[in-house]
Amino acid sequence: MPNPSDARPSKSLFWADFKWLVSLTVIAGGVGWMLGSLAWGLVVGFLAYYLWRSYAIQKFYHWLNRSTVDPPPDLSGGLWFVANEFYASKQQEQRTHQQMMGLIKKIRASLMALQDAVILLDRDDCLEWWNASAERLLNLKSGDQGKEVFDLINIPEFIDYYRSAKSPNDGVRLKSWRDSERFLQCEVTHFGEEKLLIIYDVTRLQHLEQMRRDFVGNVSHELRTPLTVLMGYIETFSDQPDLDPKWQRGFSLMTQQTRRMNSIINDLLLLSRLENEEVGERQCIDMPRLLTHIFDDAQVYNKEFGHLIDLHIDSQQNLYGSEVYLNSALLNLVTNAIKYTPKGGEISVSWQAVKGGCLFAVSDNGIGIAPEHIDRLTERFYRVDSGRSRATGGTGLGLAIVKHVLYQHDATLKIESVEGKGSTFKVFFPSHRVCGVSELKTDE
Ligand code: ADP
Repeated sequence: MPNPSDARPSKSLFWADFKWLVSLTVIAGGVGWMLGSLAWGLVVGFLAYYLWRSYAIQKFYHWLNRSTVDPPPDLSGGLWFVANEFYASKQQEQRTHQQMMGLIKKIRASLMALQDAVILLDRDDCLEWWNASAERLLNLKSGDQGKEVFDLINIPEFIDYYRSAKSPNDGVRLKSWRDSERFLQCEVTHFGEEKLLIIYDVTRLQHLEQMRRDFVGNVSHELRTPLTVLMGYIETFSDQPDLDPKWQRGFSLMTQQTRRMNSIINDLLLLSRLENEEVGERQCIDMPRLLTHIFDDAQVYNKEFGHLIDLHIDSQQNLYGSEVYLNSALLNLVTNAIKYTPKGGEISVSWQAVKGGCLFAVSDNGIGIAPEHIDRLTERFYRVDSGRSRATGGTGLGLAIVKHVLYQHDATLKIESVEGKGSTFKVFFPSHRVCGVSELKTDE
């Protein structure tokens, strides 16, 4: 049996069969001619060729049905080449199949060994496959196959997240519905029409984060009283008319620094409150009125900077939320624009209705922010230039507070900036936060 790899026809399949046809008819024609009838000889030759090829086709057909064995050696002609090609590709396919099966087994085994729950969901969001951790963490049984994922995790936050998650994302953290002491992080990844749901047990991380929050909250709280006493005495001594002039500078620095510490502690306490509890208040805030107040406060702060500040209220829409917290967050964005713009700059504050909600925006033509800093600005104590921030009385916590307040109001912050040219901070409030229109008349 020739090696199948050598068996590829060097000429076309037509010639492989044609040479047999010619040989048989020539031999049979020659014999017929010698016996006195060339025509009968040719007929017999054709017939013999036809029967021989029919027999070969029959054999080829039988072999096709069990093509894992070598092709029969007596196929000859074009059929022999076809059978060998077919056999070689079939063997290659089997090798690939075995490799793939081996790989799938390995992947399954490693998914089974994972500490995190992995669940494969079909296009209808029904359970297709899961690993051992999913069984343990979610108490899945074989009868759950084909059930809808929402029958398993019927929690509004999860359903909202699952329906909106399209691209890789941070997922959603939930209190375990089976064990209230545990916390689970759920992440959905789409591939084709199917989805992969991965659930991590983040109880330890949650406890650590809580410890960190409690620690910062407690420390700030404990420092507040001694600091208030210090500030009181320093201010009393500074106000003494007979204070020795050589102490004056020292007292003025102490006043400045204790005030700064007080601002940091107040901001840390506010952050800790925002992290630990939901903004309970949910009133319909008159936004044009609130923005007018913010504008008036900003004008007072602006006195030493002399910027030109514009307020454009293009929408009368109001928002559900906490007026105190929103006032603090939005004012923070405006005072930042004032602080980080060289004297005599231009600042524009606007409120407008946009597709799907409302937009608050603050633009300045100030120092701007280099692109590498933008994603980190809402981290605690992150400053592009800490010297400048301190000089302007910044605590480095303003944007962290803004982020938390906006999160509590389902709003998102977008920062656009060009270094040396200016920045725009945009806050988008989704339409479910909108609650009617203000009666305040604003000058357009
Ligand atoms: P800070 O108290 O330092 O102002 P924030 O958290 O409010 O702290 O802001 C963080 C940093 O973001 C600031 O230190 C500053 O570098 C940068 N920043 C914020 N707003 C602006 C702005 N409008 N223009 C330029 N830089 C800004």
